[in-house]
Amino acid sequence: MPELPEVETVRRGLAPHLEGARLVAVRQNRPDLRFPFPDDFAARLTGATIQALERRAKYLLARLDTGETLVAHLGMTGRFTIEVDGEGETPGQFHYAAGADPKHTHLVLVTDRGVSVAYNDARRFGYMDLIATARLGEHPYFAGLGPEPLSDAFSTATLVSAFAARKQNVKVSLLDQRIVAGLGNIYVCEALHRARIHPERAAGDVTPAQLKRLTAAIRSVLEEAITAGGSTLRDYRTADGALGYFQHSFKVYGREDDPCAKPRCAGVVRRMVQGGRSTFFCGVCQG
Ligand code: ZN
Repeated sequence: MPELPEVETVRRGLAPHLEGARLVAVRQNRPDLRFPFPDDFAARLTGATIQALERRAKYLLARLDTGETLVAHLGMTGRFTIEVDGEGETPGQFHYAAGADPKHTHLVLVTDRGVSVAYNDARRFGYMDLIATARLGEHPYFAGLGPEPLSDAFSTATLVSAFAARKQNVKVSLLDQRIVAGLGNIYVCEALHRARIHPERAAGDVTPAQLKRLTAAIRSVLEEAITAGGSTLRDYRTADGALGYFQHSFKVYGREDDPCAKPRCAGVVRRMVQGGRSTFFCGVCQG
């Protein structure tokens, strides 16, 4: 499932093509994804200009000049493909048609710049909605969300206050979207390893000094993943045709039994299950 850095990479790939563009045609190939498309979806999009393409947690938000915002969640396998003047393969631009079976293309947006943006989703866990922009913050998707981890609203103080006296372990606490928005399993594992905090530690027992390290680690693992995603965008031929995770940058996730990557640590990466999800960690340096 794409996490925050992958969604941000999608946003950055799409933004130059969609921001300021007017949708001149919308082709909807089925009535639903994970949920039904909104009523009159294509008609409400056609003719609209996308004023800005933003991201909140793992949602893409296309703000329209109609007063509505197109909200898209990629689910497990959602991806966007861009074609420019029917050519599609412009170096430095975003293109992963190779991995996308056209029978799973459920929506195509055509802009006044001759760009087609196709949404392809084999498993259809993704979803889209149109919400009045003025009421976006109250919508159930967004109402309870904590601060964006890469924004100024997220700081050590956020975690000090949210974790005070909290008995739940720090791993599961970080996945709570009310505390911080958009963090998923992979980057929580990576951040805890980088900050040298054991995932089973009760959140309320993590010291302020450790929380300071953790805050910095959350930001840096996300920023590095976004940078890695940006480099796959710049040279689409090195991508495998799909928006992937940036596996090379994982130090613990999916690396059970590998030696710990921390310099001078003799530990081995272990896996356990917390809250139904795999946690990867080093029992030596994450004391
Ligand atoms: Zn270690």
